[in-house]
Amino acid sequence: MKTIAVLTSGGDAPGMNAAVRAVVRTACENGIKVYGVVRGYNGLIKGDLIEMDLRSVSDIINRGGTILYSARSKEFATEEGMKKAIDTCKKFGIEGVVVIGGDGSFRGARDLSERGIPCVGLPGTIDNDIACCDHTIGYDTCLNTIMEMIDRLRDTAESHDRCSVVEVMGRRAGWLALNSGIACGATSILIPEVPFDIERDVIQRMRKTMLTDKKHFIIVVAEGCEINVHDLAKEIEEKTGVESRATVLGHTQRGGYPTARDRVMATKMGNYAVKLLMNNIGNRVVAAQKEDVVDYDIFEALNMTKTIDMNLYNIAHEVSI
Ligand code: ATP
Repeated sequence: MKTIAVLTSGGDAPGMNAAVRAVVRTACENGIKVYGVVRGYNGLIKGDLIEMDLRSVSDIINRGGTILYSARSKEFATEEGMKKAIDTCKKFGIEGVVVIGGDGSFRGARDLSERGIPCVGLPGTIDNDIACCDHTIGYDTCLNTIMEMIDRLRDTAESHDRCSVVEVMGRRAGWLALNSGIACGATSILIPEVPFDIERDVIQRMRKTMLTDKKHFIIVVAEGCEINVHDLAKEIEEKTGVESRATVLGHTQRGGYPTARDRVMATKMGNYAVKLLMNNIGNRVVAAQKEDVVDYDIFEALNMTKTIDMNLYNIAHEVSI
């Protein structure tokens, strides 16, 4: 392969820049021309590409977000949009594409691969919901950001004997909620994967701990539980008598400089992706398993399901009472 492209797609995640840097530098060092596609698949449709060199990715390893910008492109999921994207690839002589994003982005990469443009997907998503991958790029940073913010909420909850109900990101996956809940000593953790009952899993747990003189509480709720946390705070206050406040952490969870773990993982994965394309191997998803980097067929990766670690869930409930 003589020319490749790299794009970031779907929700941004800290460490995407480190992955872009690794892709660009690996390509350049191996004599491959590399284009950065601006705003994900939209850029591929519109032909919005920038030729990158070693210095175009200077000073980005430490930056959150993505210098290539990201987008959700409805048009790309249509035959017409796909055709435009393929025409752009032909026009620029692009023989392979590295797609950094979540499972939606991988579906696009699979469709492009099926139409003759080999793609390699890199899991860049804070949700950690890619089944073949232990830790996606951005997850560790986001988890640590949430931990820091809940620690701050704990300071004020403790000072006023309050309950702090915190909504964290995770539309379909409870990884962020479960692990941040454990790291922050939450009394209750509600996640979409495990059926819950507010009376049993929140109110009664709080009452039980109050018997041992506990006076402040953290309740972590994953976004995917579709609970209004303000209503939940009111219900807690009414039923337990503990003054309660709700906080939706929102987009603050996405930004910030990536942790060392995300930077290193992104660098290993970006390098690995280019090596696959150099060997004319496409239609793959790169994944982290333990400390190793491996790859899967995209179709197989999309059909795998990630289940929550019930052992961890049970530990959380045993130690937070
Ligand atoms: P995250 O979940 O972290 O936000 P994601 O990659 O799953 O990341 P999506 O919005 O689901 O985010 O997908 C990103 C883009 O991938 C979509 O805007 C669309 O352009 C493309 N895409 C998604 N699903 C498909 C599909 N079935 N076929 C083709 N392209 C798709």
